[in-house]
Amino acid sequence: MARVVSTVIWLQPDAPPKPAPGAPCNGCGLCCLAEPCPVGVIVSGRRTGACRALQWSAEARQYRCGMLVHPARYLGWPRARPDAWLNRLVRRWARRMIAAGVGCDADLEAIAALAPSPAAPHDRDTPPPSMTSTGTGTGTGTGTEP
Ligand code: SF4
Ligand code: SF4
Repeated sequence: MARVVSTVIWLQPDAPPKPAPGAPCNGCGLCCLAEPCPVGVIVSGRRTGACRALQWSAEARQYRCGMLVHPARYLGWPRARPDAWLNRLVRRWARRMIAAGVGCDADLEAIAALAPSPAAPHDRDTPPPSMTSTGTGTGTGTGTEP
């Protein structure tokens, strides 16, 4: 029987709903807010909680993987130009590692919480969002393809 774990996470109110497994990633951010993928573990320095590299794009109304946008920022070179060799190199590696483009592989379900709790933690890079709890089965997704 699959193990079911519930985790409370914070999502931007404008984030799109999670698509069905196998559908194209729409940047809902659920998997990266639930826990970091292997690349996210490296840049976040932890195996639990929201990935440090997750970015919210208010313009696109979706989450983006910072390791595909400007990875040098998360590797200690925030001033590197977006087209710098380091960014290009790491972006290529990260794209392969997170299997960008293969569709949503997150076995997660989002359930809206009844009321927000001011004491609950949220992603440090995002403004106050809505609260959502996730029932997570086995496995996590890797995604947020810009
Ligand atoms: S896909 Fe990107 S943002 Fe998501 S957990 Fe992995 S490294 Fe972090
Ligand atoms: S891979 Fe992650 S960010 Fe992309 S749609 Fe699935 S749960 Fe959302």
